[in-house]
Amino acid sequence: MFEKVVIANRGEIALRVLRACREMGIKTVAVHSTADRDLKHVRLADESVCIGPPSSLESYLNIPALICAAELTNAEAIHPGYGFLSENAEFAEQVDSSGFKFIGPSAAAIRTMGDKVAAIKAMKEASVPTVPGSDGPLTDDNNKSLEHGRNIGYPVIIKAAGGGGGRGMRVVNSEDELVNSIQLTRSEAGAAFNNDIVYMEKFLGSPRHIEIQILADSHGNAIHLGERDCSMQRRHQKVVEEAPAPGITAAQRKTIGERCANACIQMGYEGAGTFEFLYENGEFYFIEMNTRIQVEHPVTEMVTWVDIIKEQISIAAGNPLRYKQEDIQIHGHAIECRINAEDSKTFLPSPGKITLYHAPGGPGVRMDSHIYNGYTVPPYYDSMIGKLITYGNSRESAIARMNGALSEIVIDGIKTNIGLQQDILSDKVFAEGGANIHYLEQKLGLS
Ligand code: ADP
Repeated sequence: MFEKVVIANRGEIALRVLRACREMGIKTVAVHSTADRDLKHVRLADESVCIGPPSSLESYLNIPALICAAELTNAEAIHPGYGFLSENAEFAEQVDSSGFKFIGPSAAAIRTMGDKVAAIKAMKEASVPTVPGSDGPLTDDNNKSLEHGRNIGYPVIIKAAGGGGGRGMRVVNSEDELVNSIQLTRSEAGAAFNNDIVYMEKFLGSPRHIEIQILADSHGNAIHLGERDCSMQRRHQKVVEEAPAPGITAAQRKTIGERCANACIQMGYEGAGTFEFLYENGEFYFIEMNTRIQVEHPVTEMVTWVDIIKEQISIAAGNPLRYKQEDIQIHGHAIECRINAEDSKTFLPSPGKITLYHAPGGPGVRMDSHIYNGYTVPPYYDSMIGKLITYGNSRESAIARMNGALSEIVIDGIKTNIGLQQDILSDKVFAEGGANIHYLEQKLGLS
């Protein structure tokens, strides 16, 4: 096992990685910007290194500074968390070529999955179901594109191969808009992602977002940890997540999960990863793979009893997976509410000093957060300040516990989205389970 790990991230995920390392007897190095000296994990880490000014570009995205921190502290491995450099193939490459272990998949795997056209091709080869589409980039041959549109059937969606964060997509409702829409998406993608390759997919009208968590080791073993439902979204950002997904049967879970695990074996994938699908009328359609730990990983941990971060670290150290597929069972139900420092109505960020904080507690309540009394939320980074996770032996009991926990939590001094989360958790449609990805925006009157 590693003796010392650099945590190349901030906030709740940095604290989460630190806690996993401590349990495993691994020493930790916190790296932080000048704005983040007071982060909880910086105080708890064995060592800390300041890597630059507040701007992410000069700190958390500064590859030489991060590698220097590993060198200075004689660390062996770097955990990238999520966001920042976690899906940056060049970072993974430089970490490895500098003699450290990147806790995640190979640079080649990150690169393939970062290119959506290449990712879809890899999925088709591994028999993972994809959205009917152009099966490759659209060319300058308009007749060919029109033919694709006719074969797929309208509406279709034009997507950028290098797109991300919900950008670089355009829905086309009829044939007469197609050629123009392709040109527009192409030029926007070229400007935004420095890659003007676009492709076409069938546009699904009211899908749910269901994703499969996988773990794969460097010895050719891979397992799936079931699915999460992340359909409660605003502007393609997940707001509430849960596991298992309402209405998904054990047989469906087994079929799609095994396909994802097999795809990992076929690709030689190593580490934790998530296959994201749109789910409509009983069918799964792959949209992308995330080659890192995800924000919503705790709901899977609660229902499978697997510590995904500890497993990531163990896999990176070269150990075989400690679980076989038959060891994985889904127990009960877990829900996660993302707690953001933002106005519940306008969604504008609300940084500032937390004057009073009371964490919720009780059976089945888990609060993954770095905040504390007197902590100042800086304005420079993502507004998520924590994740509240509840667990119960049924979905109803997880919801009841979440309602209790949301009414118990006190965060004074800044605005938070706790009010919005209470609205969602007491919503009738949410209570039924299985709402689609447009539901939250419709409820909020945003679409
Ligand atoms: P990104 O990498 O930008 O997040 P995704 O491919 O994951 O892009 O798509 C983001 C979101 O866009 C999806 O969650 C879904 O809401 C919508 N979307 C993408 N592809 C389709 C499709 N074929 N049909 C309907 N909606 C889609």
